[in-house]
Amino acid sequence: MRVQLELRLGYFPALFEPALASPDVLESLWNHARAAYLDNPLPPRFKEAVLLVIMRRCPAPYGLVGHAAALVRHGMTASEVFALLDDTAAPRREFERHLEVLRRCTESWTQWPTTSALAEPALAVTLAYMLEPVECDAGRAELARLLPAELYSRWSALLAYVWARWQWCAAYPELANRTEAALAESWAQLLADEPRLADHLSPAEVVAETPAGRRASTQPQPSSLSQIIDAVPTGIVQLSIDGAILMTNAPAQRMFGLSADEFSRLTVSDLEGAAILEDGTPCPSESYPLTRCLRTLEPQQPATLGVVRKDGQLVWATFTALPLLDPAAQETTGVMVTIVDVSERKLAERALRESESKYRLLADASDVYVFCLDRECRITRANAQLTRMLRAPTEGLLGKRMHELLASEEMAAAQEARYLHVMETGANLDFEEMIEWDGQTLWFASTIAPLRDHDGGVIGAQVVARDVTSKRRAEIALRDREERSRHEALHDPLTRLPNRLLFMDRLEMEVIHCKQDGESMFAVLCLDLDRFKNINDSLGHSAGDRLLVEFGRRLQECIGPEDTLARLGGDEFAVLLKNIHDASDAIRVADRVLNLLKQPFALRGQDVYVPTSVGIALSATGYDRPEDALRDADTAMFRAKRRGKGRYELFDAAMHAEAVALLTLENDLRRAIERAEFEVYYQPVIALETRRVTGFEALLRWNHPTRGVVLPGDFIGCAEETGLIVPIGEWVLREACIQMQFWHTAYPPSQDMTISVNLSGKQFSHPALISKALRDSSLVPSSLKLEITESVIMEDPQAASKLLEQLQRQQVQSYVDDFGTGYSSLSYLHRFPMSALKIDKSFVTNIGPSGENAEIVRTIVTLAHNLGMRVIAEGVETAGQLELLRGMGCEFGQGFYFSRPVVAAAAEAMIARQCLMAVTQRPSPA
Ligand code: C2E
Ligand code: CA
Ligand code: CA
Repeated sequence: MRVQLELRLGYFPALFEPALASPDVLESLWNHARAAYLDNPLPPRFKEAVLLVIMRRCPAPYGLVGHAAALVRHGMTASEVFALLDDTAAPRREFERHLEVLRRCTESWTQWPTTSALAEPALAVTLAYMLEPVECDAGRAELARLLPAELYSRWSALLAYVWARWQWCAAYPELANRTEAALAESWAQLLADEPRLADHLSPAEVVAETPAGRRASTQPQPSSLSQIIDAVPTGIVQLSIDGAILMTNAPAQRMFGLSADEFSRLTVSDLEGAAILEDGTPCPSESYPLTRCLRTLEPQQPATLGVVRKDGQLVWATFTALPLLDPAAQETTGVMVTIVDVSERKLAERALRESESKYRLLADASDVYVFCLDRECRITRANAQLTRMLRAPTEGLLGKRMHELLASEEMAAAQEARYLHVMETGANLDFEEMIEWDGQTLWFASTIAPLRDHDGGVIGAQVVARDVTSKRRAEIALRDREERSRHEALHDPLTRLPNRLLFMDRLEMEVIHCKQDGESMFAVLCLDLDRFKNINDSLGHSAGDRLLVEFGRRLQECIGPEDTLARLGGDEFAVLLKNIHDASDAIRVADRVLNLLKQPFALRGQDVYVPTSVGIALSATGYDRPEDALRDADTAMFRAKRRGKGRYELFDAAMHAEAVALLTLENDLRRAIERAEFEVYYQPVIALETRRVTGFEALLRWNHPTRGVVLPGDFIGCAEETGLIVPIGEWVLREACIQMQFWHTAYPPSQDMTISVNLSGKQFSHPALISKALRDSSLVPSSLKLEITESVIMEDPQAASKLLEQLQRQQVQSYVDDFGTGYSSLSYLHRFPMSALKIDKSFVTNIGPSGENAEIVRTIVTLAHNLGMRVIAEGVETAGQLELLRGMGCEFGQGFYFSRPVVAAAAEAMIARQCLMAVTQRPSPA
């Protein structure tokens, strides 16, 4: 008993269990606890409130009233007290809410909370605990964690007191009802403040001295003792002096896996039989605390034993056995045993032991080298690991210095310098070093610490070196991998050249550099392969890839080591030339590139020529942003392409203005479609023999809101570049077909008239639009002629032939437009299903009597006829030209001599006139 009290009431349930059995012990405990309670520096109001709530459960009404009165004395209002009495609902929720506050508050706790902000939640926790001890068990553990040990033990002391008071009142109701004058007075005051209290606690109870009154108040808790015993978390077993089991509580039954009934049929020797020692052997009788207590009649020290339960499961518990003294007879009547389940702690301990032994194993097998040195750097001790590494027995190492062990003098000297430094300064030194050993590179993380004698003087050094080679190797491999992926992110995988990202980065650096240093200049060259798509399509992608690689290699030859060549994507390359003096430096490089590309590339056994367009932008233009420099080089490159490919262009201010104009044009064009600003004009095609209109060519006009009528030459190029030609071309085709179909219907004699529509290369990929226009207009397919320029055919012969064959199947005829301006030969063109060719107006213009072109035109006409094609002459402006062409056998003509392109109404007037003439000239039927 004394032993336990000396624990300063640390763990109260265990403390009170034996006490429950003996009123005697309870009273001495009550006295101790009361002293502890009074010592407690908690605010009195707090203490009383705790007590009040506890008293509420206790059968002594006076205690409750007394403490309520005391609370009022301590400054609590009567309503607050009343709330305490009444508000016992949902204590757990309250508890949790306050626990959270506590947790936050306690972070800065050094003192028991005396301010109300902290005391209140602490109070609530306590109250909640008292009201629901089982539910709040987790909360108690939480509090133990939160509070400093000393505060927690005070808190326990407080609870111990009220708990004891509760039990005490239960055991001695007459003591609980003792009246104190001061309390009675407070009670009267309390009732005056809050009359409602009277309903809960009749004042009669305050003076309930009669045995009947006492009985009435104690009756509702007839079995409170056994309930309490069962509610404590500790197992309790009471033995008779001859070893029979008289009583067990629920936790004890749970621990042993036995019912109360089963227990009652057992004796102490049965319990002993189920006990094992920590090493797993059966517990010998002389060590079993219960048996020993019965034998010696002395309190036994707590002992931890294993209990093999009925179901075979092993539980670990701490047993405490106390002899029970009958005060009256002055003899021991039995033994009280408390049993605390420590299985969980046991498991944790075992896990710890296991991990410790594992750790020891690890340490033995680890790569740690340990050795000690004296002041002269001679080895005085070395672990097995070191001898293994140096392949020398320990004795062989002792007394040796580093230069006798390490191959490298230099390394040995560096090591000794470190040892000496540590011995001199007396401070530890941590470092990592790389050592060449046995043909291998090893890394060590080492610590050198001074060794001292009793007086603290440095007598040597201890070295602990850990082999971190594998870790470092992994790090190095990782770094390599990162480096590689960084390289990959900045380079084109095919050509291994820098990509756009890296190029822009370097260009940006150069822009900044040139701004800072007014002298420096750079140039950006944009290069684009003019016919890369053709090569890709005809020779295959792998040939295309090889061409790009070889192309990059050749370009690299043209630039210096400081310059950057990058592949920006597809067939687009760029060069950043640093440190140039003026435009001529950049032009020289461009010339070198173009010259080098005059040599064919050998692909699939074929010589392939790759004309390239180069655009140059110079830093002299004054760039703030790298993308502007690249954009201008790009603009210049497009200009080079337009001006005939395989050449370079230097970006200049005029080009800039042009680029801006082009952009405006593009925007206007986009809006032109939405705003229906386009109109189709019609130019008649005349049969030269009869001078009759055989059809019309549809020519696009743009009724620009500010510029007036804009001719196709001013916008078709832009429309093609931007792809806008596709919707525009679709509109023209549809419009022209519908118009011609209308004329066919309105003027039946015109039904053999045809409509010619110009087709751009971009429209090749949308052949469905042609059938759609025919369908939508109901025009007979043979009435539609599509004009395709020679150069469009030559640019993508494969696509052209596919489309032309398809058109042929639909019975739509195709014409070669602008013949003579391209590089193709007629015999080549003949492979395509074209029914006629149009001689470009540039030839027709010069065929006057003195013109040199007459012979060329004549040859073309003859050749075309031989190939089964008919000929249309464009740009007929004079009667002389007409006569010459007719003489050559050219079937059709078009030109200002007959009519300019006109609006639909004017064209319709021509048709009407011709129909009328046909009717009047037709010979009347006989
Ligand atoms: P093109 O197909 O060669 O059309 C003939 C061009 O010559 C027309 O110019 C026409 O007005 C002009 N012309 C006709 N007779 C004479 C003449 O006697 N003397 C002179 N000097 N010129 C004459 P336009 O209408 O300005 O069209 C220019 C080019 O624009 C066309 O050349 C054609 O390639 C293209 N084009 C016109 N409309 C369209 C279209 O709807 N789609 C496509 N893709 N291109 C079109
Ligand atoms: Ca044409
Ligand atoms: Ca033409």
